[in-house]
Amino acid sequence: MAQEKFTFQAEVSKLLDIVAHSLYSQKEIFLRELISNASDACDKLRYAALTEPKLIDGDSEFRVTLSIDKKAKTLTVSDNGTGMGHDDLTDLLGTIARSGTQAFAEQIAAEAEATKDKKGKGKGKGKDKDADMSLIGQFGVGFYSAFMVADKVDVRTRKAGEDKAWLWSSDGRGEFTIDEAERDGRGTDVIIHLSKKEEEYLEPLRLETIVKQHSDHISIPIVLKGSGEDGEEDRTLNTASALWTRPKKDISAEQYKEFYSHVSHAFDEPWLTLHNSVEGMVSYTSLLFIPSAQPFDLFHPDRKAQVKLYVKRVFITDDCEGLMPPYLRFMRGIVDSEDLPLNISREMFQHNPLLAKIRSGLAKRIMGELKKKAEKKPDEYAEFWENFGSVLKEGLYEEPENRERILALTRFKSTTQEGLSSLEDYVSRMKTGQDVIYYMTGDSVEAMQASAHLEGFKSKGVEVLLMTDPVDDFWIPSVGEYEGKEFKSATRAGADLDKIGKDGKKDKKKDDAKDTDKSKAAGEIEPLLAQFKVALGDAVKDVRASERLTESPVCLVTGEGDMDARLEKMLKQNRPAGGPDLTPRVLEINPGHALIKGLNARAKTGDGQDSLIADAAYLLLDQARIIEGEPVGDPQAFSRRLSAVMESGLKV
Ligand code: ADP
Ligand code: MG
Repeated sequence: MAQEKFTFQAEVSKLLDIVAHSLYSQKEIFLRELISNASDACDKLRYAALTEPKLIDGDSEFRVTLSIDKKAKTLTVSDNGTGMGHDDLTDLLGTIARSGTQAFAEQIAAEAEATKDKKGKGKGKGKDKDADMSLIGQFGVGFYSAFMVADKVDVRTRKAGEDKAWLWSSDGRGEFTIDEAERDGRGTDVIIHLSKKEEEYLEPLRLETIVKQHSDHISIPIVLKGSGEDGEEDRTLNTASALWTRPKKDISAEQYKEFYSHVSHAFDEPWLTLHNSVEGMVSYTSLLFIPSAQPFDLFHPDRKAQVKLYVKRVFITDDCEGLMPPYLRFMRGIVDSEDLPLNISREMFQHNPLLAKIRSGLAKRIMGELKKKAEKKPDEYAEFWENFGSVLKEGLYEEPENRERILALTRFKSTTQEGLSSLEDYVSRMKTGQDVIYYMTGDSVEAMQASAHLEGFKSKGVEVLLMTDPVDDFWIPSVGEYEGKEFKSATRAGADLDKIGKDGKKDKKKDDAKDTDKSKAAGEIEPLLAQFKVALGDAVKDVRASERLTESPVCLVTGEGDMDARLEKMLKQNRPAGGPDLTPRVLEINPGHALIKGLNARAKTGDGQDSLIADAAYLLLDQARIIEGEPVGDPQAFSRRLSAVMESGLKV
């Protein structure tokens, strides 16, 4: 068969260019990536051999081998794992198959550009390059990192169970070739033709240092082939036992971190490392991490958790639904159980009762650790919350049995506090007479802080929690309350602000006086309310005197029992055009505002047919919409009315 030629997928070419030209620091990690792949390939085959033992007949000792050829200036990383067939080679080593990659490749390219610019200005050290690396790592260009040190890379490979072997070859400049080849037995050799400046990777000591530093956690032996000269023998460079089976005291922070990189393909520091063994009804060891940065696919619609399942040290799957609930999908790491059957199948992932026990035990432990961190190191916890709070909150409606635990972990911005507050903090600050937790949801804290809805709350010093995650509109209706205190939207009718502070001793008289004033004022604008109602008809649910407004003339609130306006908007965005309109809302008007007073005076004396009042009703309704960032109901009518009102002002 003749040689076949292929071009890399466009994104791969782009990445290869970045890999080759803009990542100067830490080139040595290419070796970790290749060893990591070799170890994964062995894991996969060991699993496949559970059901098809003849795949590993005659060679069941898995290992990674490093061989140096000083003359040819090559370093070869070999394994006796699954190997790759012809189509695997084109699929796996020519494309980037992971989801969401297109956008991500662009992000990396942009990042690299930015780094280049910075470098032009001065010697930016470390940090910028680390930024590159963390993106690349998440992206999993693992294999392509070989081109940081190579002029050319050959991959000679034979898939377990097949007779044919193949040679993949590329200089990393846009094309690769595939030829038929020979190989003794299954597995893969990645042959790196080192470029001139990279000959340090031909030194056994250098390789040993790198392996000890980055790959010691690999559970199979990493063997450095002896040259045979002067009786030099093969040497195993790593500890060669599964990291999670070693005693905690023997594992360094650095080793944990390397293991985290290996299992998560991420280069950030783990924010939290949890290593535990549980003995009991079901025994298992878990080594779990919470990343310190958001993984790029955190909000991918499949919401898959990425914790690997092992049974008796044998890798089973990294796609086990039953192990980690979707609201903990930011967790990375492994779980290894003695008690699950080795032949556990995909269907069993969802229904196995032991797995369900492990899952619930892990969720509880993770939340327990988060709670400790939140109490002892609130600043660090705030970082976690920033990254993963919106994901964790999904659990509030998805897993009622952990609701209380999750509620205790939630943190919020609020109108009266700097930084983040817990619900417990909020409740402890509630005013006398306040029996509900006030909140508001919106796109930004700044916009909410400026909103007319909060005027009355502010003037009374009543705190309102400000929530900006879309998920907030979903969990609040399903959770409903915290410790017997109902969550109540500040944008709803019947905020009952009147009651608050009333039974506090201080200023009781003044408060009472104020309240009488208020209800008097509210009574006085009855004529205007009546005429507004007639004018606006079905465009609003009701027109009422407001308790909450102190400065603005009007605002829109959601009727008692109606769906929250923001939630409704979100839900309707996904509907076909021409669907039903949004539910009409309640227009609240401020009886103390000069404009309202003036209009009311006119309403009282008029005949009820005053077109200026009808125009004002619509204009004020539209004004309330505009302030909320919504479009006006009917732009043409809006302009006509606005002109009419301005004109009437000119006729003295
Ligand atoms: P990742 O390891 O994140 O999947 P890599 O770029 O490191 O990404 O590798 C791409 C794919 O190529 C791997 O997922 C694997 O399927 C295949 N591969 C790489 N190295 C080997 C190997 N030594 N043996 C078998 N398959 C391999
Ligand atoms: Mg890899």
